[in-house]
Amino acid sequence: MLSDLLDLVLPATCALCHRPGGPLCQRCRDAVLDCLHPSPRVAVPSPPPDGMPSCWVRGEASGALRAVVTAYKDEGRRDLHRTLSAWLAPALRAAAAADPAARASRRGRGLLVVPVPGSPRARRHRGDVPLRPLVTTASASLAGRVTVADVLVATRVTRDQSTLDAAGRASNLAGAMAVRPRHVGAVDGSVCVVVDDLVTTGATLAEAARALREAGAGLVLAAAIGATRRRSDHHPGLPCDPPLKGVGDRSNVGA
Ligand SMILES: [Zn+2]
Repeated sequence: MLSDLLDLVLPATCALCHRPGGPLCQRCRDAVLDCLHPSPRVAVPSPPPDGMPSCWVRGEASGALRAVVTAYKDEGRRDLHRTLSAWLAPALRAAAAADPAARASRRGRGLLVVPVPGSPRARRHRGDVPLRPLVTTASASLAGRVTVADVLVATRVTRDQSTLDAAGRASNLAGAMAVRPRHVGAVDGSVCVVVDDLVTTGATLAEAARALREAGAGLVLAAAIGATRRRSDHHPGLPCDPPLKGVGDRSNVGA
């Protein structure tokens, strides 16, 4: 509300280049569009962590797309909410349409959409859970019965993921999430779509899926805005690589 009011009196600047034209100027928006796939596709981390759910993403989590997510989460640019929700929604729709059980659940007991829980440290640092409103808005574009619920909770303190490699991230997160007791009934036998912002090693989604399956989930799928390109897919010179000049180190996002 306050930001809405400020937008009326202050000219909005671009979240990436800080020139007039917010929340993203046309030049920076074009840079992000270069990171988006023509349609959502399945992201497979290399190597995939044990229990990695099938995950649909909208784009590649490098350069401008990663910078926009960081600006939203860590630089107070919550005015990017609509933009990021619109990029997440197609990935979520693709996940929800991918499996016959997922389609049937939306006509029956309902599809359960589950944001990954932020760490308690991140929540204290940011004062809120920025992923949650993105998931809520993106889920509104799903047809049928859909429930967004914070069924997962972090069960212990984990280290900052940004300094860890794939194996380190997996062991850092192993057993780090659980289904809240009051949600066990909703999870048991359900079809769940776990949602994160960006996927790097897949460790976060794999741990979320493990916790949901342990609580009886019948099927776990996943969706995210973007995923880091696999090394084997790396072709230098693609438009989305390297990061934009002047937007700083954007490595501390996602896991
Ligand atoms: Zn810009």
